[in-house]
Amino acid sequence: MSTSSSLLVVGSVGLDTVETRAGKRADVLGGAASYFSVAASFLAPVRLTAVVGTDFPDAHTKLLETHAVDLAGLERVAGRTFRWSGVYAADFSTRTTLDTQLNVFQDFRPKLPAAWTDSEYVFLANIDPVLQLGVLEQTKKPRFVACDTMNFWIEGKRPDLVRLLERVDMLLLNDEEARQLSGQANLPAAARAIRAMGPKAVVIKRGDAGALLFHEAGVFSAPAFPIENVVDPTGAGDSFAGGFMGWMAREGDISPATIRTAMILGSVLASFSVEDFSLDRFRRLDLGQIRERFAAFSELVHFEKIKI
Ligand code: AMP
Repeated sequence: MSTSSSLLVVGSVGLDTVETRAGKRADVLGGAASYFSVAASFLAPVRLTAVVGTDFPDAHTKLLETHAVDLAGLERVAGRTFRWSGVYAADFSTRTTLDTQLNVFQDFRPKLPAAWTDSEYVFLANIDPVLQLGVLEQTKKPRFVACDTMNFWIEGKRPDLVRLLERVDMLLLNDEEARQLSGQANLPAAARAIRAMGPKAVVIKRGDAGALLFHEAGVFSAPAFPIENVVDPTGAGDSFAGGFMGWMAREGDISPATIRTAMILGSVLASFSVEDFSLDRFRRLDLGQIRERFAAFSELVHFEKIKI
């Protein structure tokens, strides 16, 4: 493996209770930063900043450790870990959040280990934009900063989110959130409006319809890999971000060509994530399988540019 640039993430680490047509799991490892870190770790080492409570099982910490996720920024404090629960429609077209408990994230004031302030690639995964800003402000001169958010924060913390957006290079969000944030129903119009708020690039995730990148070089579309047996879509977006940023850090480059490949690696990692509950598919994933699916992706979208 080539020497990777440093990749830092802040975001939720927590316990999820999820119900899909494939079954139900209670208090399993979840959180945007958990999915991001493990997905990215297949491509580059990750520095994780987050907080958990005393009820967070050691087995989860061990899983992160076995994936070369540096936990020097993971605080464990008295109190309960972040919890989220949701249920999916049988066709996975919609997800209903049943409960969100911020718990120890409520009073979290992230403090980056001194050695991490020089991080070059920074991902502000889904969490309170005040915390995302708090981490960004401690970094010296990152090369590329991307962030994610969701309806919870667009509704509840819009002024803080707007301040954050002025300072990031790229925003990833799903189609519904892009419409909500911009007030535009049409996605290219929504992307244009969001780019006017700060980020030079916007990635709009559309579930099994794939992801669209809007940036200075135009528009790029990455399909979602067709998966027959979807078990649990939770964390697909965060795994996409992990594959994306993992590739950026591994390449140490922010050119449009690298960003396109990053879009495909994002789709590859997301496609594995949905094949099982929680982060379970990542437990039995290796670089060989990632390479195979990357090659299958190339077949999926390949066509000759003939004269018609
Ligand atoms: P995704 O399916 O990519 O939207 O991400 C789902 C993950 O986000 C779950 O594992 C949740 O623990 C986490 N999550 C849900 N709501 C929030 C929230 N308001 N803030 C931070 N993380 C959240």
